[in-house]
Amino acid sequence: MANGSIVEQRGSTPVHGNFIAGAWRAGKTGETYENRNPANPSELIGHFAASGADDVGAAVSAAEEAATSWGAISAFARANILYKASEILASRVSEVGRDLSREEGKTLKEGIGETTRAVQILRYFAGEIQQPIGEHYPSVSPTTFLFTLREPIGVCGIITPWNFPIAIPAWKIVPAIAFGNTVVFKPASMTPLCAVHLTEALAEAGLPTGVLNLVTGGASAVGDPLVRDDRVLAVSFTGSDAVGNGIKKLAGERGAKVQLELGGKNPAIVLADANLDHAVTQVINGAMMSSGQKCTATSRAIVDRRVVAEVTQRLAEKVGALRMGDPLDDATQIGPLVSAEAAERVTGEIDRARSEGVALVAGGSAADGHNGGHFVTPTLFGDVDPGSRLGQEELFGPVLGVITVDDVDEAIAVANKVRYGLSASIFTRDIGQAMEFVQKIQAGIVHVNSETAGAEPHVPFGGYKGSSSYSREQGKAAREFYTQVKTVYLDPPPSA
Ligand code: NAD
Repeated sequence: MANGSIVEQRGSTPVHGNFIAGAWRAGKTGETYENRNPANPSELIGHFAASGADDVGAAVSAAEEAATSWGAISAFARANILYKASEILASRVSEVGRDLSREEGKTLKEGIGETTRAVQILRYFAGEIQQPIGEHYPSVSPTTFLFTLREPIGVCGIITPWNFPIAIPAWKIVPAIAFGNTVVFKPASMTPLCAVHLTEALAEAGLPTGVLNLVTGGASAVGDPLVRDDRVLAVSFTGSDAVGNGIKKLAGERGAKVQLELGGKNPAIVLADANLDHAVTQVINGAMMSSGQKCTATSRAIVDRRVVAEVTQRLAEKVGALRMGDPLDDATQIGPLVSAEAAERVTGEIDRARSEGVALVAGGSAADGHNGGHFVTPTLFGDVDPGSRLGQEELFGPVLGVITVDDVDEAIAVANKVRYGLSASIFTRDIGQAMEFVQKIQAGIVHVNSETAGAEPHVPFGGYKGSSSYSREQGKAAREFYTQVKTVYLDPPPSA
């Protein structure tokens, strides 16, 4: 880190500012908040600006001022800056990945993997914006050149969750600026350090003043004024349904373009003919890595009755063997949840399911010790009623429920009977059953014989039904949201 973001030193702890109009500045409120390590809350990572509406207003003004000139410069000039930022971030992957694990709680391997993903996204869009940006059509008039151009929208508000604190900001901010927009970025308040790292890499790469502005702080103090500002012409949000739907209403009413990526209740179907070793390993990875705090995490294992006893037993063995601990320790497979509130909420859901008589197969006990970190023991429930709370609601923790079905048709019907549709998997050796699943499953990301949580950065990402707003992120899909189409009829002037 270049330490440019530090606006004050409080003892040995840095105070990080906002990045507005090309400079790191203290928040106008004068207030800050603490960012602590969820695995060890006594470790204070840093102080961050607890910003307010005035900071948001200044950031939007800076972004508005930069929009015309940034939108007008050559795509190759923008590509060079993105590529340079990728190199800067690549040179810091170990440090940033470590900071990611310290503030979010996923393992160091996952933290480094996610930071590497952000580098790949920068590289991808440095190339993507050199691709054709319009289409040429035939015209009824033989002398008319009829074609389309894609142009930037203007100021984009980017609001992101804590669970992928560098990859999700990268996959929104990078295409936004690549296609010539300017950005006001409000990261989740629990993971501001990753936001600082990404912003620093882009600023050091030479991004002109005002193109990217970072404002840290709370949901209502920063997020709400950003969503309401008429100068913000597009809002891209990833987070919970309740917040996303509120944002859609507010920003939509004032005519802004809105993109939402929301929750999931992702199923993994295990049919009787599957390779059970492989299926069980993949289901556990999908359910438990990042402590189940992925929007694409597996939370329902929908298993054929003929193998359900064996699959449940094997899942229980693997759940019991998972090593929970300090995310920075190489041996650790499961870190803490992101906050005390998250751990309390997930523990409460486990207790509630137990009190309702759902069969607890593994885990479920309190995770004591661990330096007072926000740990929840990986937990497996058996014989879950698909219509129950455990079968329907996103828990966002290391909790998996097994649902028993008679065949592939029932499995798909159960899988679809939730309000979400983000990702889904099936495990089978039967190509016919796999194809039936691919055709009938209501999900935006579909896996055959792999876990629900894998996603590559150059292909569309997003969900069906309540998981998304029909738009897609990443890859070529990103330009749909971050550009608008201009149709041009070009005729020669009359010769006389
Ligand atoms: P959240 O909705 O609480 O917060 C997301 C962001 O919105 C944060 O930056 C927050 O400060 C901000 N925010 C909250 N209230 C706001 C308001 N009224 N106005 C403006 N901004 C506001 O979500 P979270 O707890 O950070 O993230 C977890 C959720 O995100 C889960 O539901 C998960 O499934 C979802 N998620 C979805 C995807 C996807 O691509 N579909 C990816 C990751 C996470």
